[in-house]
Amino acid sequence: MAPRSQRRKHKKRPPVTPMVVIPPTEVSPEPLTLSKPNPSIDALGFISLDNNVPGLSQLILQKLNMKSYEEYKLVVDGGTPVSSFGFRCPQEMFQRLEDTFRFCASCKALPFGLSDHKVLRHCKRCRNVYYCDTECQRSDWPAHRKVCQVLRLVAVDRVMEWLLVTGDFVLPSGPWPWPAEEIQDWDAWFSLRGLQLEAALNAVVESHAMTMLWASLGRPRPEPEALHSSLKRLMTDALSRPLTLGLGLRTLALDVGKTGGITLHVVGASHVETFLIRSGDYDELGYMFPEHLGLRVIMVGVDVGTNLLQSSSPIPLEPGTIQLSGYKALYHDFWEEQIETGNLAHPDLVAAFHPGFHASPVLMEAWLPTLLLLRDYAIPTLITVYSQQELEASLQILVNLDTHIIACGANPFASLKPEQVYSNPNKQPVYSSAYYIMFLGSSPAN
Ligand SMILES: [Zn+2]
Ligand SMILES: [Zn+2]
Repeated sequence: MAPRSQRRKHKKRPPVTPMVVIPPTEVSPEPLTLSKPNPSIDALGFISLDNNVPGLSQLILQKLNMKSYEEYKLVVDGGTPVSSFGFRCPQEMFQRLEDTFRFCASCKALPFGLSDHKVLRHCKRCRNVYYCDTECQRSDWPAHRKVCQVLRLVAVDRVMEWLLVTGDFVLPSGPWPWPAEEIQDWDAWFSLRGLQLEAALNAVVESHAMTMLWASLGRPRPEPEALHSSLKRLMTDALSRPLTLGLGLRTLALDVGKTGGITLHVVGASHVETFLIRSGDYDELGYMFPEHLGLRVIMVGVDVGTNLLQSSSPIPLEPGTIQLSGYKALYHDFWEEQIETGNLAHPDLVAAFHPGFHASPVLMEAWLPTLLLLRDYAIPTLITVYSQQELEASLQILVNLDTHIIACGANPFASLKPEQVYSNPNKQPVYSSAYYIMFLGSSPAN
């Protein structure tokens, strides 16, 4: 997964030891397909949220597989026919992607349920909701007007995300020139990156890749300011996880000065988030703790991408090194096979981004062994959710499980990229890791 491995130059390569692949012990829910809309839109929407894929863009990435991005780039640069991955032209590809969750936002009619040769047409402003006729559109406008504008940003970000994937938009890097404790939210982070970042973003806005992207889409290119803002949102989306882990380390006052390095586990990591991961993606976490003596980030989940399947070495890390690795397994199995056997050290922090256990009994059942294990071993744990509602529901569950809640609230490093909620496209979009909960062990009251 080459595009941005060059960013690693300044960093020592993590030691690579023989690969340990633990076969998945549980079949994950069937991936959603682009071409066959399921009649049960609500169920689909739910499943997509449960699988950490709230955004259409993520679904798209999953659908196309990583190997297609290289091809995509070739196509955009004019080198390869698009037919090699099933689309006649880039325009068709984007159209197909936008059509994923296509049903009338007013009467809920699906494409195959339409009468009289009607076709679903999208709202011209936001391109993210569909109507079977003008009457449906008119009657839905009072509801849709509240979200149309922000959904329009979703459509721009969806296109712009390709630049991140193809490597034409590279995240800023380099140690923080300010004391890390001054960086408590995105405003401070953007000030810190300052003029250098602005110049880098302007260069991307004016790049050939940007021109080709919009030309290939056959759609008017938004104003430079709109593109600039979109790049910023994408940046917060990409950096939200490492900085949220940093928030966890800070809030729980964990010692990053531990000799040999500290270990962080990301539980239930999805295919997309691990497949798209690049060696430099957690650099920002390192800059947050310039004094760290090594950060080992291990992604554990049945959907972890094979690119990450390299065993985490128990060899002490060198100061300042960040090592990323993955295990394809359910967390409690991973624990039994790697932690209990003493192969790997106990984690210093465990994070689950959008575990979604509040959403259904099935998911709760899947997460229960992990939650109990983390509670009983008193492992500092951080989870994130998409909304206040989810925060409340998740808190209730954790309290019922008798965990000791240390902190919760709005995440200052939440993604600023809006994500459309499939089950109801007319809802306010959600933001990844908008809220967090941290717990440690059992409630002291018992
Ligand atoms: Zn309709
Ligand atoms: Zn609209």
